[in-house]
Amino acid sequence: MKIGFIGLGAMGKPMARNLLKTGCFVAVTDVNPEAVAELVAAGAHTGINARAVAEITDAVVLMLPNGSVVEKVVAGEEGVLAGARPGFCIIDMSSVAPVTTRKMAALAAERGVEYIDAPVSGGVKGATEGTLTIMAGGRPEVVEQYRPVLQTLGQKIQHVGACGAGDAVKLVNNLLLAANMAAAAEAFTLGVKLGLSPQILYDVISESSGGSYAVKAKMPNFVLKGNFAPGFTIDLQYKDLELAVQSGKDAGMPLLLANVVQQVYEQARAAGLGQEDISAVIKLQESVNKVSVRTNKA
Ligand code: NAD
Repeated sequence: MKIGFIGLGAMGKPMARNLLKTGCFVAVTDVNPEAVAELVAAGAHTGINARAVAEITDAVVLMLPNGSVVEKVVAGEEGVLAGARPGFCIIDMSSVAPVTTRKMAALAAERGVEYIDAPVSGGVKGATEGTLTIMAGGRPEVVEQYRPVLQTLGQKIQHVGACGAGDAVKLVNNLLLAANMAAAAEAFTLGVKLGLSPQILYDVISESSGGSYAVKAKMPNFVLKGNFAPGFTIDLQYKDLELAVQSGKDAGMPLLLANVVQQVYEQARAAGLGQEDISAVIKLQESVNKVSVRTNKA
């Protein structure tokens, strides 16, 4: 099977590399020519745009920043649908709104093209190691057909419902990630303000009921080391919170915590931290409270 891959960023680049390692034909494109050149050097083919990639492949994986880019890449003049034949499949692994997926899937269906939304969890580490959790929405037989492709990229592949269901699971997951990260940032800052060592806080809490992915992964690998290179940017997390908040509005459900959490990330963006890892939300607390939650005090 010939696979296209569009969106060679923090996540997409290692994912495309994992597909290449299987020895299958992979054709890539991205608006960033350097990212394309890296993959071509590793053995990938390329096309000048999404349309050209679709023309030489059987299915295309998208790993793009947001819904409006996905819409452009799928349905734009030089988009995937312009080059896709009936029986082609679009596998969108970006995190977008369920409504975006349903709109794109309907356009695809008009041309006999299948559509799967398959957003992921596990970060750049999971993308590199091929251990992502993948939540797939779409027709069951289509998800089964492309399961081998998904298994190259991830460890846990769960079919969660019709088109858009994968996106819905993902926005719920990322609401929790954002809330846990903001809470861990505030709580660890309080601990240091109370005179505790950040390392001791981590050692105890990572093995206690206050633990979470934010504590277990983000504290030791980012915050305590003072390394805020993404990872998963505050801008992307903010976008995912917007998906959750908007979904709450659409469903008529008040989301008290989600709105407060979104303001934490809004504050971080206003402070110029948008391109840093989500763990950098702790800098807001550290600045106001004049403490440093680091083990490397250099
Ligand atoms: P990124 O910004 O690093 O990468 C996006 C890539 O898309 C870039 O290479 C960019 O040049 C490319 N791109 C933008 N517009 C394009 C266009 N019109 N045509 C072709 N390429 C285009 O983002 P990322 O961190 O890799 O995340 C990608 C998606 O995965 C997002 O939806 C994000 O929310 C989701 N996600 C990210 C993580 C993470 O830890 N970074 C984890 C899970 C899910």
